[in-house]
Amino acid sequence: MSVDETMSRIDLSALIAAVADTVSAHAEELTALDQAIGDGDHGLNMKRGFEAVRAESVALAEKPLPDALKAIGTKLVMTVGGASGPLFGTLFLTLGKELPTEPDRTELAAAFGKAVDAVAARGKSQAGQKTMLDVLYPVQAALAAGRTGAEIADAADTAAEATKPLKAIRGRASFLGDRSIGHVDPGARSSALIVRAITKTLERG
Ligand code: ADP
Ligand code: MG
Repeated sequence: MSVDETMSRIDLSALIAAVADTVSAHAEELTALDQAIGDGDHGLNMKRGFEAVRAESVALAEKPLPDALKAIGTKLVMTVGGASGPLFGTLFLTLGKELPTEPDRTELAAAFGKAVDAVAARGKSQAGQKTMLDVLYPVQAALAAGRTGAEIADAADTAAEATKPLKAIRGRASFLGDRSIGHVDPGARSSALIVRAITKTLERG
């Protein structure tokens, strides 16, 4: 079952469970990444946020997709905290604003593009600055190019890994200057984890 075939009948509670599972299972890894170039809270921030979303997944799954995504975005802003909370919140809020109730692949790619641009605007950031954007933009490109879910997830992993040699220009890691080089960006890694969970769940259909 392809991403395209399943987009029109998304099982939102399965998606939320898959994302919360992976974020919680990798919380320590995300914390370790953030300890290297930040303040070590990224794992707990993300776990708290996505477990809060999971706690409401029954009510969320009853909403039309755009409303559910907006509610998820609001919840993430309220619960994740740090720099990443408002940024992931903006991603989901904008997806909710831009997506129709039963999106096809083209509509998904267009909405995701707008959502990533909104994150960049909110963070006053751009690709190449060692942030989550260095995963989100390649994911958008893979989505727009019609890649399979597995290919999109692999592109996200590769992109997260590729933040390692970069010097951080935005966020807390930028305070380290050259010492931020040689570590994977925590927000890039969490973004790749979320992307794999979503594509895997969609393709399982
Ligand atoms: P904080 O940095 O406030 O402790 P987190 O640790 O939860 O927040 O999140 C850090 C992640 O947020 C970084 O790894 C990076 O991917 C992302 N990030 C931080 N600032 C920006 C920004 N201005 N634009 C895009 N992403 C950012
Ligand atoms: Mg942090």
